[in-house]
Amino acid sequence: MALISTSSRDAAALLNQNEIVAIPTETVYGLAGNAYSEKALKKIFELKKRPFYNPLIVHIKSGADLNQIASEIPEQAKLLADVFWPGPLTLVLKRQHTIPDLVTAGKDTVAVRVPNHPVTLALLEQLNFPLAAPSANPFGSISPTKAEHVANYFATSSLTVLEGGECRSGIESTIIGFEDESAVLYRLGSITIEEIEAVIGSLKIKTHKGEAPLAPGMLSKHYAPKTTTVLTETISQALVLFATKRIGLLTYQDHFENKNIVANEILSPTGDLTEAASQLYNALHKLDQLELDVIIAERFPDHGLGRTINDRLERATKK
Ligand code: AMP
Ligand code: MG
Repeated sequence: MALISTSSRDAAALLNQNEIVAIPTETVYGLAGNAYSEKALKKIFELKKRPFYNPLIVHIKSGADLNQIASEIPEQAKLLADVFWPGPLTLVLKRQHTIPDLVTAGKDTVAVRVPNHPVTLALLEQLNFPLAAPSANPFGSISPTKAEHVANYFATSSLTVLEGGECRSGIESTIIGFEDESAVLYRLGSITIEEIEAVIGSLKIKTHKGEAPLAPGMLSKHYAPKTTTVLTETISQALVLFATKRIGLLTYQDHFENKNIVANEILSPTGDLTEAASQLYNALHKLDQLELDVIIAERFPDHGLGRTINDRLERATKK
């Protein structure tokens, strides 16, 4: 049975023995191991059932450690790290040769960030290595934003989950790489395009939905509930189309009622996209446990965090 623990010392002891531990971050919970330990890295892929072509993110305790991970740091990357770290921004940079192929999926680049969570920053302070971590969910399923989500996913394993409360941002980091010196956005995330562009000017967007993704979050089907889920512009129309027995609704601000609606998760009654993003995965977890015939999700306004939420909903509802 997975164990939820509040001891970062116990977590550090496990990590020092090449074991893996689930850690809280401000985005989602991660499945972490010593980024230099092949043994730990293999355990992450095994437990998650993650294909080896999907690279991991290296978590460091401060930007001062970046040159141990990356061999080249463009000026724009420095600028972004200064503004957004610790925080939900992942930089994809040329790797140091010491970074294992399992972390980078054999690429010459490595993804790295400084998480903004006091528990995990305190843990990193106790370790003399960085942590490689993907999200702490089985491959393709909804990301965990609470320790109990992780414990439920890995109930039959002996995984230790370090308790850190509910993730504040609740949606993955924004991933930025560099091609021919210009910044490229690979994954929409907690930091909006508008916020990034305010720092470094206009960005190329490359969040394509191919089969062999540059970044795991780029897989077209991802973040998916077990329940059939559809995305719609207009809830009232979808309700007519899906006149099934048990419907779950995921809406931005509005509440709907009819005899088929079993539950309506409203992400932000006041229309606050930050609040909506923080509640997205928790609401999907809740709806997915209700044995529904269908989850109908409402499309969000396509700006700021609304754009990130739509990206996740599109991947969650992809056939
Ligand atoms: P997860 O947090 O589970 O989505 O996994 C880590 C994420 O890091 C993946 O989704 C990838 O998008 C991203 N990533 C890691 N390494 C690289 C890299 N070298 N190039 C591009 N993206 C990367
Ligand atoms: Mg993931």
